[in-house]
Amino acid sequence: MASALSAKHFHDEAAAFAYVEARVWPEGPTCPHCGGVERISKMGGKSTRQGLYKCYQCRKPFTVRMGTIFEASHVPLHIWLQAMYLVAGSKKGISSNQLHRTLGVTLKTAWFMAHRIREAMRDGGLGLLGEGGGAVEVDETYIGRKAGAGNPKGGWGHKMTVLGLIDRNTGEGRYFHVDGGKEIQSIVLANLSREARLMTDEHVMYKRIGREFAEHGAVHHYNKEYARGDITTNTVEGAFSIFKRGMRGVYQFCAEKHLHRYLAEFEFRYSNREATGCNDEDRANAMLRGIVGKRLTYQTIGARA
Ligand SMILES: [Zn+2]
Repeated sequence: MASALSAKHFHDEAAAFAYVEARVWPEGPTCPHCGGVERISKMGGKSTRQGLYKCYQCRKPFTVRMGTIFEASHVPLHIWLQAMYLVAGSKKGISSNQLHRTLGVTLKTAWFMAHRIREAMRDGGLGLLGEGGGAVEVDETYIGRKAGAGNPKGGWGHKMTVLGLIDRNTGEGRYFHVDGGKEIQSIVLANLSREARLMTDEHVMYKRIGREFAEHGAVHHYNKEYARGDITTNTVEGAFSIFKRGMRGVYQFCAEKHLHRYLAEFEFRYSNREATGCNDEDRANAMLRGIVGKRLTYQTIGARA
């Protein structure tokens, strides 16, 4: 039986380049310096770097790594593809320590790769949820500790707030790190079609925007009511529980400044899971669509203390 990681692009650098090029440049190579697509030649010869092209419009050399999360990294491309496979395929995430041991890169490199991969997973969710009158579940959850929060005196005030939106028909999920009710209201209004059936708990901030939508169903969690007909937030709560188990068990929580990247990771896996009809190949393609224009340096990530 062939293991999922036995494909050639996971082991052979030339095959890895061909794999990434076919997905980043479906119409053929594009010069990242001038945007040119004509008069581009592949450089050959033994001493030439893997995947090197030259653009004869601007006379500059380039590879498919340029302008992507792979730029300025010394890690071979086939190792990057293994790392992406492992992050995309691990339901609750995979620690930098595990990536370090599995891939044979240093811990610092593994941490850096994982953050870049999370950037590739961040697609920003285009289009509206609940189009055609579908149900969209909305809920918020609290996790970890805010930057600069003092000792907790009960309640949620010291924790970070995460908003989740799940389109029940398409299975797409979107997660946001939010500050408070006003922000929650504007995100819901910006991400949901007005035809949507909004599903929430009884919180007053949802009541205020509920009338904007075709229907607003609210369950009364305070009275221990979790479903009334198909009015429920059980789907989004299930998605939150995977996120929280991963953040607690695998990542041991994270600094507030990194939360949006972990949210992107869990959102990507949720929206591209087997139940929505996605397989390994679809997930790899979706991630490779996200590698362009997401170059991060160690400084812009904010190196870990
Ligand atoms: Zn050029």
